[in-house]
Amino acid sequence: MITASPGARITPAPGAPAVDWRQLWREAVTDAGELLALLGLSPFAAQLPPADAGFALRVPRGFVARMRHGDPRDPLLLQVLPQLVELDRVPGFVTDAVGDLAAREAQGVLHKYHGRALLIASGSCAINCRYCFRRHFPYGEEMAAAGQWRQALEHLRNDPSISELILSGGDPLALSTAKLEELSRGLADLTHVTRLRIHTRLPVVLPERIDDPFTTWLAALPLQKVVVLHANHANEFDAGVDAACARLRAAGATLLNQSVLLQGINDAADTLIALSERMFAAGVLPYYLHQLDRVQGAAHFEVDDARALALLDALRARLPGYLVPKLVREVGGDPSKRPL
Ligand SMILES: *Cc1c(COP(=O)(O)O)cnc(C)c1O
Ligand code: SF4
Repeated sequence: MITASPGARITPAPGAPAVDWRQLWREAVTDAGELLALLGLSPFAAQLPPADAGFALRVPRGFVARMRHGDPRDPLLLQVLPQLVELDRVPGFVTDAVGDLAAREAQGVLHKYHGRALLIASGSCAINCRYCFRRHFPYGEEMAAAGQWRQALEHLRNDPSISELILSGGDPLALSTAKLEELSRGLADLTHVTRLRIHTRLPVVLPERIDDPFTTWLAALPLQKVVVLHANHANEFDAGVDAACARLRAAGATLLNQSVLLQGINDAADTLIALSERMFAAGVLPYYLHQLDRVQGAAHFEVDDARALALLDALRARLPGYLVPKLVREVGGDPSKRPL
């Protein structure tokens, strides 16, 4: 059933039981044949790769509801549907594309850049994006998710240069709010950490996650709060996402978005302009437009640098400066993301 709009579900009528996001999570589509059938695309099932090309399909039904029925090139569908081309081995596309394994200082902590440390808070995601470097990273073995924050917090405590803690993953909002409370209690005595940043795709792909217990937790944190969403196309926004964004802002969070430039999905000026304008309507500013991490199985998504720069020029010519994202690439060993 994909008829109910997520917008209708996020604010239940008084007296109605609140929708449990974990239930919606469990009900995600995980079978590629079912996904194609829901969209009236069953004939394409013959072209699916065996065993999902080694990276399971997962997509919440509310996100499926935003895909166009009968369109095999739908930009949301292409982000999640396993494809045969993923099995091609392309030189330069590797399993640890951004050097994460080398940057790990304590279990669950990546400390690559001055002043900010990134905690792999959870290995899970509500959606599996085909272009993601996580398809090969052994995040499942990271322990922070298991509630064993001790070593990660110890690392933060011993380095007063860290003023910003970034929760990432996987998706940190895959954790229960009780687990997030446990983490924030552990942060309470770290006075040099003044900002908390959360990188998450959940407000977009499963906006029901931004429920009352979560926003209550967020609002009460004695830190500056930044939430970096991850949307790649304007069609990912709907009334449910708008409501989730409004709740995050009401809880005191600054909202930013990062996208990945993806061949066949958002590599057109009109598409990127529509994305910036749509996210701003939801109270979100563009932050980064990433060149693809060169991850094995994702080569067909790559856009070359010359085209990427031309697209950015087109954006600059047509948008106010604050709606133009920074075009960057992550290069292992660099002291920051590298501007193109
Ligand atoms: C991308 C990233 C950050 C954040 O970089 P900003 O430029 O501050 O957004 C921090 N730590 C790690 C390990 C990262 O990969
Ligand atoms: S980490 Fe982000 S991009 Fe990667 S699969 Fe999870 S939600 Fe998608």
